[in-house]
Amino acid sequence: MERFDVVVVGGGLIGSSAARHLAEGGHKTVVVASPEPDDWSAHRGPFASHYDSGRITRVISADPMWAEVARRSIERYDDIAGRSGIDFHQPRGLAWLGINIEGAVTNSTERGGRARMVSPDWLYATTGIRMPTTPGLEAAYEGAPAGVVNPRRLAAAQLRLAERAGATIIASAADRVRSTASGHAVGGAFGEIEARRVLLATGAYGAELVGITLAAKRLLRTTLRVDMGPAPAMPSLILDPVDHPHIGDLYWNPPVRYPDGRVLFKVGCEIPNAPVAETVDDLARWFASDGDPVEADALLATSRALLPGADFRSWETVPCVITRTESRYPYLGWIDDNVAVAVGGNGSSAKSCDELGRLASTLFDESGWDDAVLDAAQFAPITR
Ligand SMILES: Cc1cc2nc3c(=O)[nH]c(=O)nc-3n(C[C@H](O)[C@H](O)[C@H](O)COP(=O)(O)OP(=O)(O)OC[C@H]3O[C@@H](n4cnc5c(N)ncnc54)[C@H](O)[C@@H]3O)c2cc1C
Repeated sequence: MERFDVVVVGGGLIGSSAARHLAEGGHKTVVVASPEPDDWSAHRGPFASHYDSGRITRVISADPMWAEVARRSIERYDDIAGRSGIDFHQPRGLAWLGINIEGAVTNSTERGGRARMVSPDWLYATTGIRMPTTPGLEAAYEGAPAGVVNPRRLAAAQLRLAERAGATIIASAADRVRSTASGHAVGGAFGEIEARRVLLATGAYGAELVGITLAAKRLLRTTLRVDMGPAPAMPSLILDPVDHPHIGDLYWNPPVRYPDGRVLFKVGCEIPNAPVAETVDDLARWFASDGDPVEADALLATSRALLPGADFRSWETVPCVITRTESRYPYLGWIDDNVAVAVGGNGSSAKSCDELGRLASTLFDESGWDDAVLDAAQFAPITR
């Protein structure tokens, strides 16, 4: 049996990024990457958070850690796209509406991001977004490279580069991990492969393959995809808080092209007390559904008020899942003998997946995690 240094389980955003860094760093790497199901209602899992065509990218953040991993990732977008031949980034800018947001603007500008405070008049005249009248609400705008990334294409680009650097990609799900005399065997319908060490980058499926429960919640969320006719030019948006009884905040991606050729505007939100998937069967049931109609109505009403000039022609709802860790930071670290995790996107990791994958890959280097700014302790996995 061919033996690998590292098996990465999961070829989503963080797993594909980690695999690229591992392979380009000289590790003999294999990735077990379950492909996106054709028919969600008939599929039992695993599912992913990245089955979409748009994710916001930005440096601006109230938290310096998130700003830092975003900056480092965004700086490498051109290299990843150029070398892979897969474009995934559209620098359309980002509007950020919130309360006490000057610190977030500073976190951007200190890292070369192009965020600045703007007036409601500027916002409306430039983007068509009407500022809500929530007391204390302020507006900032971050220019390019803030905007949108296509998560499917970003993962595909990373896997292409990983493969080019020598990684083996197995497009299948792993259903078991067992320890062997010299490492671990990972098995599935593809048979079994052996590697000295394992990186679980399994998103909402956490560490259940090795029987360890991480302190993380799988939040079941609904997004709305809207056909606006000829796509208006607009930036990505984050609005927090939202003055609506059912939703806490709101974000959107400007209209982007989906694989079926349609150009759709995508809106999502945080809701207080979001439903949680306790089991993988709960996840499968959720992905077979149309999501939560109450959440969808709230998204529609709020977006319409923000975009008074837009033409909302038709829309559909799409279920999705967000993995929220107890620390609110991704878990990047060892959880067992030669088994590490890189999970816990917290709804914010698409844009920053390249740096999160790189940090995870350094766990497998001889020198280990050695970062002058980001402390490994921040990312330590918490188990139950
Ligand atoms: C609706 C929505 C909107 C979001 N918006 C943004 C945004 O605007 N900006 C942003 O930065 N982030 C955003 N995010 C978050 C971002 O998409 C996630 O943080 C990111 O996808 C996490 O990457 P991941 O690799 O941990 O998980 P995933 O991308 O879910 O990938 C995990 C992969 O592991 C695979 N897998 C699991 N178990 C197995 C197994 N046993 N064998 C083989 N493969 C397995 C899955 O199939 C999947 O492909 C959003 C998320 C959602 C759901």
